[in-house]
Amino acid sequence: MSQYEALSLYIDGEFVSGGGRKTQDVINPATLEVLGQLPHASEADLDRALSAAQRAFDSWKHSSPMERSAILRKAAQLSRDRAQEIGLNMTRDQGKPLVESVGEIISCADHCDWHAEECRRIYGRVIPPRTPNVRQIVVREPIGVCAAFTPWNFPYNQAIRKISAAIGAGCSIILKGPEDSPSAVMAIARIFHDAGLPKGVLNIVWGEPAQVSDYLIRSPIVRKVSFTGSVPVGKQLAALAGAHMKRITMELGGHSPVLVFDDANIEQAAKSLAKFKIRNAGQVCVSPTRFYVQEKAYDQFLDIFVGALKNIQVGDGTAQGTEMGPLAHERRIGSMSAFVEDARQRGATIELGGNPLSQTGYFFPPTVVTNIKDDAKLMTEEPFGPIAPVVKFSDTDEVLARANSLPFGLSSYVFTNSLQTATKVSNTLEAGMVNINHFGSALPETPFGGVKDSGIGSEGGSETFDGYLVTKFITHV
Ligand code: NAD
Repeated sequence: MSQYEALSLYIDGEFVSGGGRKTQDVINPATLEVLGQLPHASEADLDRALSAAQRAFDSWKHSSPMERSAILRKAAQLSRDRAQEIGLNMTRDQGKPLVESVGEIISCADHCDWHAEECRRIYGRVIPPRTPNVRQIVVREPIGVCAAFTPWNFPYNQAIRKISAAIGAGCSIILKGPEDSPSAVMAIARIFHDAGLPKGVLNIVWGEPAQVSDYLIRSPIVRKVSFTGSVPVGKQLAALAGAHMKRITMELGGHSPVLVFDDANIEQAAKSLAKFKIRNAGQVCVSPTRFYVQEKAYDQFLDIFVGALKNIQVGDGTAQGTEMGPLAHERRIGSMSAFVEDARQRGATIELGGNPLSQTGYFFPPTVVTNIKDDAKLMTEEPFGPIAPVVKFSDTDEVLARANSLPFGLSSYVFTNSLQTATKVSNTLEAGMVNINHFGSALPETPFGGVKDSGIGSEGGSETFDGYLVTKFITHV
């Protein structure tokens, strides 16, 4: 097998490691093999990254959109060229099947291209004046140095979305990637380095997440904070950013409801939902999570859904035929077991799975739980794994009330053949995204983001630069 990615910090255009810095092991979750040592940034490293990002911003903010666009396009091409090699390393340190890893990188090339196109269209406007000789102009300017924090579930995707938006807007960025699964972010640093991005515009650091984020967010150099991760951490970072009056984009957890109506194509719904549920072993913020199935369709749905999940091949993501890999790290196994235990104690039925697999690696099988009450842990907290609770509902108003009852509002899924039902639920669901009869979110050209506790702001779509720009009004006579 090819060599694992060389791990380092990337500061002011240089890949730096060693020098007595603290390191941590990076582990393959399927084999528990140690893949490499990841260096942590010292305070001096963070200070260097901050001043490099500030210096770089002072000139990058004047770069032409054409120059920024060309670099993003080059990064897209390099992502496609290197997808196999980057994907293999991502599977080794994150666990997902190789086909999913490579697919993530290819789709991220499209994200780079989208930002390359959109950054040429960051327009201002002219406002008609009250007196004829006055000119009133609105311009949008890059906000400044950004600090970004990205998680381990889609290591390439989460990082490239923030980096492309910052670079395309004319900002510089310091990104702390996921220490558990760092190879994808290292590969992104190499890609932008090779694409000719001026030094200091992108800086990559690693460390104790809370220490690094605290240090960077407090720095007066940082003007914007972007985070993808859990709701509790997002709230902490948003509070700190608020105390220092910094712009935020928060892409946080969800608990996506799935509404399957009697009139839907039940077989298609059950089979496609089973496949979608085990994507990335369920470690997806928009994973379908609470399955509400209308009474008449319930038995048929459960039968097909359980049947499809029973046949999923779980194993090392590099092995031929693997459909679901391990969970990304050991703490996810403990978390899955706690969800199942809580359900068992409340009298729920475990229809499938329920216990970690007894083999090397962090493997937890697809699990289906029924007869579970709406106040169980599984129905109210984000499981972030391959567990699906399936419950019955009788009418539309009742299921909408249950679907909207949690503080989350990220994604939602509906299966129905009634236009009337589709219209009513899409108008009523409290969610940033509503998918009806298919799974269509997270494309570069569509906005991705949540409402309520699931976050603030959108990534992708024509909204993608909103969090990275400030508005300036200029008037003259
Ligand atoms: P966690 O909350 O400790 O960490 C989640 C992510 O946030 C990790 O990448 C971590 O490095 C980072 N993080 C944690 N504390 C931080 C801080 N103070 N400053 C900056 N970054 C910080 O939990 P975990 O065990 O790694 O993951 C489990 C939970 O995280 C899941 O249940 C899920 O809710 C959430 N999560 C969400 C997403 C998402 O896409 N929204 C992605 C990964 C994890």
